[in-house]
Amino acid sequence: MIANPFIDVSVIPMHGALQARVKWVVRDGFVEGTFNIFKSPDGLNNWKQIGSVSGRHVDFVDHDLITRGRLDEAYYLVKLNWRNQQFASNVISTFGRLSRSEFAAVRLIMKREWETLRRFTKAKFFKLRSDGQHCPRCTDPDTGQQIGIALCPICYGTSFEGGFYDPIDTFIQVGTISPKVQEDSREGVGSSDPVTVKARGTAYPIMEKNDMFVVPDTDKRYLIDVIEYGYYNGKVPVYAEIQLQMLARNDIRYQVPL
Ligand SMILES: [Zn+2]
Repeated sequence: MIANPFIDVSVIPMHGALQARVKWVVRDGFVEGTFNIFKSPDGLNNWKQIGSVSGRHVDFVDHDLITRGRLDEAYYLVKLNWRNQQFASNVISTFGRLSRSEFAAVRLIMKREWETLRRFTKAKFFKLRSDGQHCPRCTDPDTGQQIGIALCPICYGTSFEGGFYDPIDTFIQVGTISPKVQEDSREGVGSSDPVTVKARGTAYPIMEKNDMFVVPDTDKRYLIDVIEYGYYNGKVPVYAEIQLQMLARNDIRYQVPL
């Protein structure tokens, strides 16, 4: 009887791309088997194979971690086929090291957050691209390096075509613009200062500076300037406090299609 070759298995949300990387560590001598990656919504039933890698791969990227702006609970399991034998890893969840009761508490908090936010503003969240097709205008065809620096209408300064990933429908609670800024704008003093707005949003997808929110009803567009997450027990983010910068109407990012 061969001991289970799995030493560890973990799942790491990838902040840049709405994905999760499932990683595993196996004992020496087993790395060259075939690893089949399974996913389940509850960790008990409905296991579905989402991928298979062989050779010396020790990880797999799940591109369906987050849908419709909400965290889909996901449990993962890796099975190794090695010399006509099969071994299974432990089951791991997107919330990593949370206990079952903690997981339930986090789900409840996030559900309430979502229900509250639904009463506010419908928004589309655009994640800034960190991979994809290189922009033909801003990328050196020989070296692949970015050569443009200004905001380009093809890649919006990201050097990747499109500039943003496909939008995700969500809700945000947009606060009022601070009175001082409004006054300045009216008088034409400091009108070049960016207009900042405070907002509250969901914790997932993970947001970063320069990601964009669009309010489809008004086509107002905002860039994330500062983002702070509220954590459950210091372990997982459950909501986001966001400082947004309203984009001027002539900003090139108004050309990003909805
Ligand atoms: Zn470009």
